[in-house]
Amino acid sequence: MVIMMTTRLQIEQKFLLENLPQPALAYDKCEVCCQKTESAGHLLWECPLARNVWALCRGKIQKCSNDAQDFFALFWMQADRLTKMELDRWATISWAIWNARNKFYFEKIQQHPKAIMEGAIAYLDEYQKLAAATRTL
Ligand SMILES: [Zn+2]
Repeated sequence: MVIMMTTRLQIEQKFLLENLPQPALAYDKCEVCCQKTESAGHLLWECPLARNVWALCRGKIQKCSNDAQDFFALFWMQADRLTKMELDRWATISWAIWNARNKFYFEKIQQHPKAIMEGAIAYLDEYQKLAAATRTL
């Protein structure tokens, strides 16, 4: 009797596990590396895609610690140690990594870390030129 109940319970559990909607479980994992829980800190700093982008960055930004628990802690850590220009660069690269994550997530297109970095730097250069031009008006 106990064996029959165990078997029936196992069959019910197996049925439930196979038929539960899986996306709810998938949201917990990073879509890019499928290894860690997806969080802003992971996506923008710890994920191998992000690390490969940051590795292309020279100076203090590349050598930043990666032990922040969340994105805001990471931001404040950077704000304390970087100049305004370095922080602008850091924020723009973070934004580009987030966009690359969304491109992968929604379009299944993975950008090369060098393309992500070059796009971020070009965007920041264009923004700074426009900001300088509007200051002279
Ligand atoms: Zn990841």
